[in-house]
Amino acid sequence: KARVFKFGNKQADGNGTMRNLLGGKGANLAEMSAIGIPVPPGFTITTEVCTEYNDLGKETVVGYLKDEVTEAVREIEMQMGTKWGDTNNPLLLSVRSGARVSMPGMMDTVLNLGLNDEAVIGLAKKTGNERFAWDSYRRFIQMYAGVVMGMKPESKDDVDPFEEVIDNLKEKRHIELDTQFTVQDLQDLVFDFKDIINKRTGRQFPTDPWEQLWGAVTAVFDSWNGARALYYRKIHGYPADWGTAVNVQAMVFGNMGNDSATGVCFTRDAGSGENVFNGEYLINAQGEDVVAGVRTPQQITKLGSQRWAELAQVSEADRKKEYPSLEEIMPEMYQELDGYQKTLEAHYRDMQDMEFTIQKGKLWILQTRNGKRTGAAMVKIAVDLMKEGVISETEALMRMEPNKLDELLHPVFDTKTINQEDIIAQGLPASPGAATGQVVFFADEAGKYKNTILARIETSPEDLEGINIAKGILTARGGMTSHAAVVARGLGKCCVSGAGAVKIDYKNRKFEVDGRVFQEGDWISLNGSTGNIIDGKVPTKEPELSGEFGEIMALADKYRKMQVRTNADTPKDSKVARTFGAEGIGLTRTEHMFFEGDRIVAMREMILASTEKGRKKALTKLLPMQRGDFEAIFEAMEGLPVTIRLLDPPLHEFIPHQLAAQKEVADQLHISVAAVTSKVAELHEFNPMMGHRGCRLGNTYPEITEMQATAIIEAALNLKKRGVKARPEIMVPLVGTVSEFLEQKRIIQETAEQVFAKRKDRIDYSIGTMIEIPRAALIADKIAAHADFFSFGTNDLTQMTYGYSRDDAGKFLGIYQNKGLLTSDPFEILDQEGVGQLVTMGAERGRATKPNLKVGICGEHGGEPNSVAFCHRNKLNYVSCSPFRVPIARVAAAQAAI
Ligand code: PEP
Ligand code: MG
Repeated sequence: KARVFKFGNKQADGNGTMRNLLGGKGANLAEMSAIGIPVPPGFTITTEVCTEYNDLGKETVVGYLKDEVTEAVREIEMQMGTKWGDTNNPLLLSVRSGARVSMPGMMDTVLNLGLNDEAVIGLAKKTGNERFAWDSYRRFIQMYAGVVMGMKPESKDDVDPFEEVIDNLKEKRHIELDTQFTVQDLQDLVFDFKDIINKRTGRQFPTDPWEQLWGAVTAVFDSWNGARALYYRKIHGYPADWGTAVNVQAMVFGNMGNDSATGVCFTRDAGSGENVFNGEYLINAQGEDVVAGVRTPQQITKLGSQRWAELAQVSEADRKKEYPSLEEIMPEMYQELDGYQKTLEAHYRDMQDMEFTIQKGKLWILQTRNGKRTGAAMVKIAVDLMKEGVISETEALMRMEPNKLDELLHPVFDTKTINQEDIIAQGLPASPGAATGQVVFFADEAGKYKNTILARIETSPEDLEGINIAKGILTARGGMTSHAAVVARGLGKCCVSGAGAVKIDYKNRKFEVDGRVFQEGDWISLNGSTGNIIDGKVPTKEPELSGEFGEIMALADKYRKMQVRTNADTPKDSKVARTFGAEGIGLTRTEHMFFEGDRIVAMREMILASTEKGRKKALTKLLPMQRGDFEAIFEAMEGLPVTIRLLDPPLHEFIPHQLAAQKEVADQLHISVAAVTSKVAELHEFNPMMGHRGCRLGNTYPEITEMQATAIIEAALNLKKRGVKARPEIMVPLVGTVSEFLEQKRIIQETAEQVFAKRKDRIDYSIGTMIEIPRAALIADKIAAHADFFSFGTNDLTQMTYGYSRDDAGKFLGIYQNKGLLTSDPFEILDQEGVGQLVTMGAERGRATKPNLKVGICGEHGGEPNSVAFCHRNKLNYVSCSPFRVPIARVAAAQAAI
């Protein structure tokens, strides 16, 4: 089998469909080359080789690869007109990783392979730029030692030995910038670097280009199992056996003088989705300089440059002089680039994120990929492409990552409430959103406070975990395409980058802006849509949902087969859910209503009562409160079905366990403290989740069910009187036997009839059950004979199928996932293999008895896209989820139906 796939010169062995084998980058390079985009020639070593490498080890795999790689390098030499390992006319190569999905900054890159003490002279001669050659060489040694020879500093406290040498030299020479080094300085650096490597590793820096190449290739394979890659794989759920490909490619240089440049561009705006070509570039720089954010780059288009100048408050004259766009200073190059960006977007039919380099007036495209984007941009770009006729309705829907819709639904800053004087500084609006938090300066401290803003001079891939935890990211350097910006947009995290006025002092854990000092722990706010950095906390307001959002939702409704309901316990939640498109309530947890205000007093009175009479007296107090709640919810839902679940939790949850609080309760209820403490002891359970809860309560204290049924029926009758339709569906929790369901059903029906008789009026209602105990799924055919509907309570079903306590599993689930014993948290993502069987069986058996049985799900999984797809396959009638997940479920249900 082929392990190496070549590309370049408008040809390629592979193509864009071969992502799994060639990785995203490799497949794209092959595809681009084949459609006539000028990519530097090279080859891709497949992801399968990564797996071979992990299984068989380095020696064996290098042996397998030798002939193919040698032949591929010959091919590159021919195309570039240079020679690998040559002293006069050296070919230089880059080595990059590339998994099937983009993992920004996760894997390692080595540039300038092939340089050694002789080749550096050749390169200097060939380019006529001795300084550039030696600078490339010292960068190469630094990078290679870090990535391949294990000399990268492990934490922020470690000193980077190379940077230390650089700083010392700068001090000695009284200079500030790398660019001020002379050739002699750079030669000294090379000498010192090699010396450090030798001392630290006991090895010589390899001068043989082949040894360099193999070292870099195997380092890429090794990095697949590095800590950062493992973390990224974990948070995204990517399996280890995907592996990474290795891309080896001829180097082209953007730092060969003022006719050279390098940049990153997007075919559309990755933040807002607006259809404008945009990006950033640096004249006379290496590719890494743009994303690393060391120098703040300039805008590619004139429009972008003007918009930037407006935000940065730079005058038009200064802009033209100091920050001109590529469009203005290299118009031909810009035109050519603009042509390629159009070709590439049309070819891939999606927004592209491209990297390019101009080497002495020749434009090379280094890579293209579907650009990471915010939730808002995801929606707008898909809808726009659909309207442009580029993609179909179903493709637009399939372009949604349902979970990202969440970003659109959360509050934004109420900009009207922001005082001008509270704006500390202005950065670039790198990733939209509103974030308020306490400042921290180190990624590994992002969890130090509940809400944090991570402030960094610039970020690096090591910071990923911290970026994920922080509420917002602020960087002093770096543009819209900096690492921080790209990662933040991918995560939908608010980010303001390139705020040059912010002077960060890591050592003293503070930052300063125009004399104002902010310490670690101070509250600041970031507006990722405007780039404002604001002092203190800023109030938020509800977001305005865009027209495109509405269009995507309408499309989702057109294609989906399942209904989407919500889990809501209050009229407010019900209303929110309706604005998000909920078609009814799938679960109202009535116990939540008992916790509020003085209701808990009546509830405690009921629990502490020693006689049925005492309980009934307390329940009479609760009745009007419950009835009022139900009326309000029915009203908010305006005739849509509302599933009300009878009381579920164990009673001990309602009474305090601290002595002081018990005394208070005793005082309130005019009973003795001893009565309270003895009741607490009596209610104590070793295993409350499997204890006296659900219908077991309603069957032992039927008066509770009577009160709740009365409240529901009376509420519906009251509304009927006012001309509002109510459709109550009464749901019995935690049923495991037919008889316990029948007993609850009898109580509900008898109560309802009594109310009807008293009121001389009737309404329609139904009685169903939750399927949340494995036994209920097993005997679903028998239960269905008596139940009007089923609703899978997959929270309890998961708990009882795995035997994992919902309340305690947090202690080990994280460890299980880290160790790979579980691929995900089964309480978050439905375990289709195991628990799912019970859902399938429950639905099938129930419908075997009653073909039209209405079946839904109301566990947390009802709003999780993979689980929604599972429910669709099992022909459930509806999913029910929390209000903010309703749009996610609508789209996920549509995707499942496509
Ligand atoms: C369930 O068990 O899935 C459910 C919805 O009920 P609760 O979470 O209230 O136990
Ligand atoms: Mg439950």
